[in-house]
Amino acid sequence: MAEHADHVHHDHGLAGPALAAELASAERRCLRDGERLTAARRRVLELLLKAGRPEKAYDLMAGFGDGGGAAKPPTVYRALAFLERLGLAHRIESLNAFVACRAGEGGHSAAFLICDCCGATQEFEAPAASEVARAGAAAGYQLRGITIEAHGLCADCCG
Ligand SMILES: [Zn+2]
Ligand SMILES: [Zn+2]
Repeated sequence: MAEHADHVHHDHGLAGPALAAELASAERRCLRDGERLTAARRRVLELLLKAGRPEKAYDLMAGFGDGGGAAKPPTVYRALAFLERLGLAHRIESLNAFVACRAGEGGHSAAFLICDCCGATQEFEAPAASEVARAGAAAGYQLRGITIEAHGLCADCCG
């Protein structure tokens, strides 16, 4: 977070019961999909939910051990790949960072408003996703996912 502007925004990170509830619901989703939320996967998701904003993989590695040792990169990358696959997290390419998704169901097309000043991000359902999917199908592509990343300044940073 230190690399961003020094004014503090309301961040939407979770804590306490809200965090526990979100982790429990992720657990249920994994079970339903015949997957397991292993300790490492759960820990990475917990870090993303606590942060409430995009986190880089190396921040997740550093925070992994709760004051103890950092996680090994493959542990974190594998956990992130899993969370992405289940729709519990999204990768934001332009920031090279990951953010927890709380949309509730997997496999949706995400769009992000990203503030280039403070790093705040807001997720919403990609409005143009069906057109992108159509264009992909017309060109014979099998799309793995669609993520729209829109950059600019958030309301707080515009002022
Ligand atoms: Zn999402
Ligand atoms: Zn901002």
